[in-house]
Amino acid sequence: MKPFLADPFDSDSLHEECGVFGVIGVADAASFVALGLHALQHRGQEAGGIYAHDPEQGFNGAHRFGYVRDNFTKAEVISTLPGPLAIGHVRYSTAGTKANTAIRDVQPFFGEFAMGGCAIAHNGNITNATALRRELIERGSIFQSSSDSECIIHLMARSIQRNLAERLKDALRRVEGAFSVIAMTRTKLIGVRDPLGVRPLVLGRVGDDGYALASETCALDIIGAEFVREIEPGEMVVISPGKVESSRPFAPAGSRFCIFEHVYFSRPDSIIGGRSVYETRRQIGVELAREAPIEADLVCAVPDSGTPAAIGYAQESGIPFGMGIIRNQYMGRTFIEPTDQIRNMGVRLKLNVNRALIQGKRVVLVDDSVVRGTTSRKIKDMILDAGAAEVHFRIASPPTAWPCFYGVDTPDRGKLLAAQMTPAEMRDWIGVDSLAFVSLDGLYRAAGEAGGRKNDCPQYCDACFSGDYPVAPSDQIERGFQMLEGSETAHAAE
Ligand code: AMP
Repeated sequence: MKPFLADPFDSDSLHEECGVFGVIGVADAASFVALGLHALQHRGQEAGGIYAHDPEQGFNGAHRFGYVRDNFTKAEVISTLPGPLAIGHVRYSTAGTKANTAIRDVQPFFGEFAMGGCAIAHNGNITNATALRRELIERGSIFQSSSDSECIIHLMARSIQRNLAERLKDALRRVEGAFSVIAMTRTKLIGVRDPLGVRPLVLGRVGDDGYALASETCALDIIGAEFVREIEPGEMVVISPGKVESSRPFAPAGSRFCIFEHVYFSRPDSIIGGRSVYETRRQIGVELAREAPIEADLVCAVPDSGTPAAIGYAQESGIPFGMGIIRNQYMGRTFIEPTDQIRNMGVRLKLNVNRALIQGKRVVLVDDSVVRGTTSRKIKDMILDAGAAEVHFRIASPPTAWPCFYGVDTPDRGKLLAAQMTPAEMRDWIGVDSLAFVSLDGLYRAAGEAGGRKNDCPQYCDACFSGDYPVAPSDQIERGFQMLEGSETAHAAE
């Protein structure tokens, strides 16, 4: 379990990184969900939860801190979650109340309505959650958690619709921001994506008439489900065994899938938009080698997130690839360590230099992103200590200069290195011989957009790089967040 020390990030932000998984029409659905969540563990390691429904035993839920494998593989937990229908959630939250993170913040959330129970699991971030919460509390809602996602249950409770899927639609029409939501009633599994489709959600087929919904295809693979299709931006599916009904609850909007899912967040063995995440990352490396070539002896990745791009860089440049940094597979993601001091140690605990390979070499080091720069600085020290002649950083994303308000954890703007420094200043601060980031167009090309970014209607959400927020983050604006002058949504927010 992650230690709950003081939150080093924006203290009043409510960002979440999450994975969701649901299945209907199989015996012991909760066991399938446990496996699906295990495959999605990279999306959140703080805690996980499962709700299941059994016609005889009704709804049952279990919520635990820590890894799925440590909690939901135990018979004493899984046996309390019987039934053919279940949903689950893994989370990593940077909610301001982290020091007090309680088990009641762990999803799925459950509500008992006149027409039966409903459990929901949300991936993304509701950008008007503070305003909604205020309004709901004024009108009598009693919140159980500090999570933005709980608003959905309370909004459902206020809806006058007669069935739960319709109530969920009503609720989500009031919600702004990014959401991929999985819900379950006594008989139905429901999946919805926000109109821009910022977070992923895919549909799979299990056995004869079972279905699964998952954040990523890698979670379908683990249970042997067949990938059917992505849930489309703005689509709701209501699934019963053997039957998928689709509807469009929201006004149509152009898709703005999160490009950072391609860069870092999703697993490389997942398929997004018909494209292998691994291949996109490898292609980013190819773009980087074209945009920022350098004479060197060895290309190394910062494992594991930098590996596919490093392979692409090596292939395109002709410089040999080597495993110059070895990762201890038993550590979590460094970024998740809560204080700078622990994060610094964390890099060493997690990564070690392969001294014999590095010594005397001019090394190109490829990483997926620079956020605070802490990792880069530490790794550069380790490589130089091991006797490298030169260190050249190549980053498989543009400078991360803006925080994400749609469900990827990022620190506030003041802590983002790229918001404070130019690339040349960053190079000096990190202390490397050269530093280059892939361009935004290069990233788009790698993601399959041959013509690059269409600046008048971007194909992705790339707010963390461009400052162009497709949905005005209204809670943040209320707290004083300043958007880029002249950006589309800056006007919308006025
Ligand atoms: P930093 O030391 O703050 O520059 O962290 C950068 C490293 O954190 C990168 O190498 C990424 O692999 C990783 N990273 C980037 N964004 C995230 C995120 N949202 N959550 C977890 N890890 C991240």
